[in-house]
Amino acid sequence: GDVRVAMVADRAPPQPGPTLIAVGSGKGGVGKSTLTANLAVALARLGRKVGIVDADVYGPSQPTILNNKGQKPEARDDKLVPVPSPHGIPLLSMGHLVEPGVALAWRGPMAGNAMAQLIDAHWDGTEVLLIDLPPGTGDVQLTMLSKFKPAGAVIVSTPQDLALIDAQRAANLFDSGKVPIIGLVENMSGYACPSCGEVSDPFGKGGVEAAADATGIPFLGRIPLAMEIRTASDNGTPSAAGDGHEAEPFHAVAKQLAD
Ligand code: ADP
Repeated sequence: GDVRVAMVADRAPPQPGPTLIAVGSGKGGVGKSTLTANLAVALARLGRKVGIVDADVYGPSQPTILNNKGQKPEARDDKLVPVPSPHGIPLLSMGHLVEPGVALAWRGPMAGNAMAQLIDAHWDGTEVLLIDLPPGTGDVQLTMLSKFKPAGAVIVSTPQDLALIDAQRAANLFDSGKVPIIGLVENMSGYACPSCGEVSDPFGKGGVEAAADATGIPFLGRIPLAMEIRTASDNGTPSAAGDGHEAEPFHAVAKQLAD
């Protein structure tokens, strides 16, 4: 019995790598990293084995959001080993590769190679790998499309026209690389005044859904602008890890990704 099992195991095909899902945006600062971390935590709560590659060369913030800053990934057989986080999300970040506070003044090809190292790592046991891309449509995105074929891309934008135009450009890049756009997420959508409760829309509202409708891309939902979401990120405990009402919109988007 045992010998046969061992032989069969020897001949088993290599485990397929995790499903890659790219999270992109046209602009920086629209909440791509915040969304990536919260989606990972929400998907993990749905029972998925999720990891994150933080490929945002310009501002690698996942080690802060997921609270595993200062840890260095080890290498085994010339490949990096993802660093665990307290929220059960293993992570490899551009931020892990440099000293804190040192700017990543890397040229495109170097950044692309660094990202490739983060993806081509020991992700055994991870089912879904979310890639937090740098904003825009630069070399890292092109490396992503030429070297790795993500199963799909999620694009995040604020409802502001200027952000949306850039988001459309990011969507077009994935489209031209034959990567299906899973959908658009509207972040910073509506703000409830903590003192009077009145809801206002600093960046407008509904623009992302309208853009999704116009282009036939699915609309995955809106995340409000909320102080709690920002403080939760800064404190290393993403909102989706808790049961506050801020967690709900992230879980709603994650459910659609899980299906
Ligand atoms: P990006 O990855 O697109 O550059 P970040 O996720 O780093 O953007 O978000 C930029 C800033 O906005 C961060 O300080 C983050 O905590 C904050 N932020 C993002 N989304 C929200 C939100 N829905 N409500 C409040 N603050 C947010």
